[in-house]
Amino acid sequence: MQKVYLDNAATTPLAEEVIDAMVSVLKNNYGNPSSTHSFGQEAKVLIENVRRQAAEYLHVSPAEIVFTSCGTESNNMVIKSCVENLGVERIITSPMEHKCVAETVLELKNKKKIEVVYLRPNKKGDIDLEDLEAKLKNSEKKTLVTLMHANNEVGNLLDIEKVANICKENEALFHTDTVQTMAHYPMDFSKIPVDFASCSAHKFHGPKGNGFTFIRKNSKLKSLITGGPQERSLRAGTENVCGIVGLGKALELSLANMEQYRNEMEEIKSYTISSLKEAVPGIVFNGRSGEMDKSLYTLVSVLLPFEEPLIGMKLDMKGIAISQGSACSSGASTPSMVMMMLLDDDQIGNGTPLRISFSHYTTKDEIDYFVDNLKIIVEEHLIEKTEC
Ligand code: PLP
Repeated sequence: MQKVYLDNAATTPLAEEVIDAMVSVLKNNYGNPSSTHSFGQEAKVLIENVRRQAAEYLHVSPAEIVFTSCGTESNNMVIKSCVENLGVERIITSPMEHKCVAETVLELKNKKKIEVVYLRPNKKGDIDLEDLEAKLKNSEKKTLVTLMHANNEVGNLLDIEKVANICKENEALFHTDTVQTMAHYPMDFSKIPVDFASCSAHKFHGPKGNGFTFIRKNSKLKSLITGGPQERSLRAGTENVCGIVGLGKALELSLANMEQYRNEMEEIKSYTISSLKEAVPGIVFNGRSGEMDKSLYTLVSVLLPFEEPLIGMKLDMKGIAISQGSACSSGASTPSMVMMMLLDDDQIGNGTPLRISFSHYTTKDEIDYFVDNLKIIVEEHLIEKTEC
């Protein structure tokens, strides 16, 4: 049976070059980077090279990059420390955020009694930046704004430069979850005044369990994990050298081929959109997903015009991996929080959300195989409807 992987927003396969780089470290560089002998120092050099590489990509200084275990940890670290250590009393966010941001904010609200203000997105998932500005102007409380660069379920892109400038003008801190955009888009934080951002290697063909946090210099953020002085005391624990090297190799490949990969994936995305429109009458593109310039080129999110809770399983039986929402909520029988915000009442219970996400390995033949199999399911539903 053909196997087609269209769930790259959940995770991506490791690039061969990444595997090779990691295997080499596992075999040859077992020293502890905190050790002063040559074994340790060789490992330390490997880490520092990746830190420099990440810093160059973001146009920041290497001291502003802190390696972590994942995007979830990076986001937790920033949000929790802003409240614990930087005197943040109010967080402005949106209901479109990833669970690792949403749940962290909620927990802080429950425990610390910080004020949380939600910006209500419209039915396309757009955040009203005038509303953000008004909310920032009307408060004396020290505020953190946390808004994601791109939504992982529908792909909506946010103008983080605009948000960062609004925050700066109003003396608020700005954290952005860039897990779906790091290594896919150019980032210049010497021009965009974001304070904190997150990265996760497994979203761009690097290893799972590796990421980094960008922390603007002099921000006085503290470590989430206490212990040794690793990562300039911002993240205790012996570094995952092999994973960091894997992250570095994946970043190197993504940056060297960014334009080419983007062009290829944009072509795959438009091809998917037109094939789906032809194959599924009444299909809806969720949020800004159908608009190339306003959404991630790595994914498309649709609502099929019938309810089929077993669609993920049916496609899986044909060897096709897609998501019925994000990886965190797939398998759940109810639509995710994000979909609930975007769908009209009559669409909930009458439609099936699907997220199809690409990598530069995705081919048009794979899209054809997916669409052909989806068509069979659509036809079954049309027959069922006429028989009723
Ligand atoms: N933020 C976004 C937007 C994501 O898509 C994800 C992963 O799905 C995360 C955060 C969490 O990243 P990680 O899997 O590295 O913890």
